[in-house]
Amino acid sequence: MRKVVVVGEILAEIMATEPGDGFDAPMALVGPYPSGAPAIFIDQVARMGQPCAIVSAVGNDAFGKLNLDRLATDGVDTSGIHTDDDRPTGTAFVRYRPDGARDFVFNIRHSACGHISDGPATRQALDSADHFHVMGSSLSSPEVVRLNVETVNAVKARGGSVSFDPNLRAELLDAPGLREAMTHILALTDLFLPSGDELTQMTGANTPAEAVAKLLKSGVKAIVHKRGTDGVAYFDAQTEQQGASFIVEEVDPTGAGDCFGGAFVALWLRGMDIAEALTLACAAGARSVTRRGPMEGAATLEELRDFARTTERRGQ
Ligand code: ATP
Ligand code: MG
Repeated sequence: MRKVVVVGEILAEIMATEPGDGFDAPMALVGPYPSGAPAIFIDQVARMGQPCAIVSAVGNDAFGKLNLDRLATDGVDTSGIHTDDDRPTGTAFVRYRPDGARDFVFNIRHSACGHISDGPATRQALDSADHFHVMGSSLSSPEVVRLNVETVNAVKARGGSVSFDPNLRAELLDAPGLREAMTHILALTDLFLPSGDELTQMTGANTPAEAVAKLLKSGVKAIVHKRGTDGVAYFDAQTEQQGASFIVEEVDPTGAGDCFGGAFVALWLRGMDIAEALTLACAAGARSVTRRGPMEGAATLEELRDFARTTERRGQ
């Protein structure tokens, strides 16, 4: 089986138990939960039984141990995670507003994972990739951008494949060199996983159809457009398919896109029938929102099959 590697942030997430605006008064919080978009993605890949690794850094602290233990237990190769004695593990405090939007307090840039080292363990993990996944939200420092771009180039040069989830964060977009890096990565992407408006934003197209045509023409092999409870649309040169979302009670939406991506990438690499892979990946996305904590809903292939068999889908 092909090994999947990702580079990016590992965080401890702490969330408000009640919806509301921001963090301007004492409130009940729950956590820490293992988190960070690339970490959630790679944990779901591991739970599918796919060989995989993450390149990152954690502090020499309890939040670092929480993440290292979870990832290792679930089957992620953690040898590319550096333990930093000087900087703490990154954190994200999250509170949901009544309308479903989120307020965050992040400590990423000045945390351990804001300084991912380029040492021998990092190199070894990156060199072991047969498939490399780029998480756009991780492209938050010139160092991480460089590691991602170099690895995309190297993996493609040795015949491997690349997937890319833009996961755009408005506050990162104006970072110097970021747009150029994203354009470069997209030009080498095999499997593109945008959500919502990212499909048109990333391509400068006016409509999703125009964006898809442009991407397929430029060499992207497959596109999965994530649309929340509207499910997903899949496109390649031969086919176009829809995947309906499952009907669940949403407890915590964070992690749906990452769990969807982790499941789909693993199944796509195995050459599974696309309709079946879309169903199981939608199951991964839906299951993840039924648990509090971004990584708590990550599931094995067997759990996803059970979930898909026993849960109703929209419009069906
Ligand atoms: P994120 O908000 O985590 O970045 P995303 O925007 O990348 O997510 P989504 O489209 O929100 O991706 O979620 C991916 C898939 O997960 C959806 O296509 C859907 O199948 C499933 N999913 C997400 N949210 C829900 C939900 N509330 N109920 C059922 N399924 C969901
Ligand atoms: Mg997303």
